[in-house]
Amino acid sequence: MKRLIILGSTGSIGTQALDIVRANPDKYTVVALAAGSNAKLIESQAREFNVKSVALFDEKAAAELKIKLADTDINVLSGADGVCELATLDGDMVLNAIVGIAGLRPTLAAIDAGKTIALANKETLVTGGEIVNRKLREKGVKLLPVDSEHSAIFQSMQGAPAKSLKKIILTASGGPFFGKLKEELQNVTVAEALNHPNWSMGAKITIDSASLMNKGLEVIEAVHLFHVSASQIEVTVHRQSILHSAVEFTDGAVIGQLGTPDMKVPIQYALTYPDRGMCFEKLDLMKVGTLTFERPDTDTFRALPLCIEAINRGGLYPTAVNGANEESVKLFLEGKIKFLQIAELNQKAMDACINKTDFTVDDIFAADAAARAVVRASI
Ligand code: NAD
Ligand code: MG
Repeated sequence: MKRLIILGSTGSIGTQALDIVRANPDKYTVVALAAGSNAKLIESQAREFNVKSVALFDEKAAAELKIKLADTDINVLSGADGVCELATLDGDMVLNAIVGIAGLRPTLAAIDAGKTIALANKETLVTGGEIVNRKLREKGVKLLPVDSEHSAIFQSMQGAPAKSLKKIILTASGGPFFGKLKEELQNVTVAEALNHPNWSMGAKITIDSASLMNKGLEVIEAVHLFHVSASQIEVTVHRQSILHSAVEFTDGAVIGQLGTPDMKVPIQYALTYPDRGMCFEKLDLMKVGTLTFERPDTDTFRALPLCIEAINRGGLYPTAVNGANEESVKLFLEGKIKFLQIAELNQKAMDACINKTDFTVDDIFAADAAARAVVRASI
């Protein structure tokens, strides 16, 4: 029995992780759950999985949850500190499926407590990659990728010595706006941007997929996960989302992982690693027929080259781009800015970033706040 702590349990990844637990009651138990503010859903999850502790980031929602669960002996924690504390409770593995930089401190708390991490929260590595890697080494803790591309890369490298890795081929679906030019993206709506062709995900990452910011964040994530430089990562648009990414070895052999576009596969692999779990939906290559690969249009989708520039500059630049993006995506979803302004504002915040090469977690949060302020002041 693996005892799981799930952070972000009410979201897209969190609920799919609970589907996996539900389908494998002999393999997993859930001991603790955390989320942002959805008291109703986390209450029903807490009761269904009979957990010991729950946490909500939102203090008011946590107070409400405490009343809802008064007839149980489930421990209710609250606030950012409560979420961090929950990540350190008794359990074997922490799945971090929180969205945004809010996931960074809980990841660090879980590593400090010696927990194996299954990481969906890419913003953890984008902002705190160096600190996380240092801590993982110090504590001898394992971190397993959940992001589908990074899981595919990780799966493709099983059995290969790290020094045989030449290049990473990071696939991108291209999102709902693939093939469109800047002029055609001037007035796209929130609904159009949220209409992803292949994946059903939370709102923030869906907008990031439409702008290719998601791929940029994933380049940075891969740099930290696989200890490569950005120049060793080739982004290719693969519309079918069947090849989830691949690696090229020194002898030119390319090994990739294919499957239906279903996040349950990479989530489950992180939970079962190095074993394999159950099959949810088989891939039928005859049905797929054709796999295509194209170069991304980095003139139109500026967020991708911007992230590559950020990781090449290093230091706090990735944090600035990420923080600006969290803020600009929020403003776009609220209808306050246009789609193309997301990348423009991210660029502006990156240019305004005051960098440090040797930085702390507090420096990261200061750079995040500064980038958000630049975005808010610009509209
Ligand atoms: P989502 O918006 O559906 O869910 C986010 C979860 O985080 C919710 O449970 C929410 O309550 C919780 N949350 C938000 N703020 C919080 C806070 N301050 N403290 C505690 N919990 C908080 O998002 P998602 O699509 O599930 O994505 C989660 C993470 O996984 C993101 O980093 C995303 O980039 C990554 N990811 C998602 C997918 C996908 O298919 N959805 C694929 C790859 C990677
Ligand atoms: Mg991904």
